[in-house]
Amino acid sequence: MSEDFPAFETINTPQRQLLERDIQAACVRYARSRGTYARKFVSTANRSVPDYLMITMGWVWFPEFKKPKGKLTPGQEEEHTLMRKAGGEVYVFSDIDEFKKAHAAIEERGWHPAA
Ligand SMILES: [Mg+2]
Repeated sequence: MSEDFPAFETINTPQRQLLERDIQAACVRYARSRGTYARKFVSTANRSVPDYLMITMGWVWFPEFKKPKGKLTPGQEEEHTLMRKAGGEVYVFSDIDEFKKAHAAIEERGWHPAA
C-alpha cells in the first residue's frame, strides 16, 4: 500500500463513500505506525483468504477488510471458519476505530510467549 495515500480524515467526507481500499489503507497505515508487520495475504489457490497477514508483538492475525455494510462471500465465511478451527485469528473490519480497538487488545496481551 502506497505510503502517500491521503490521510483517512481527508477521504472520510460526506461527499465521498468510503471504499474497502480506503479502510484497508487507513488500517494498514495505523498498524505499521504501531510497529505491526503487515503484508497483503495472497494464496494463489485460495481466493477467499483474508486480505492481510499481520504480526503484532508476536501475535499473528488476519484482518479482512470490507466497505461499510460490506458482507463476506460464502467462500470467505467458509475460509474463516477453517482458519478459526485451526486456532487462527481472523477479524473483519469495515471501520478504522474497530480496527484500532482490536489492535490495542492484541497489544494489551503483551509479547507472545514464543516471540
Ligand atoms: Mg476484503
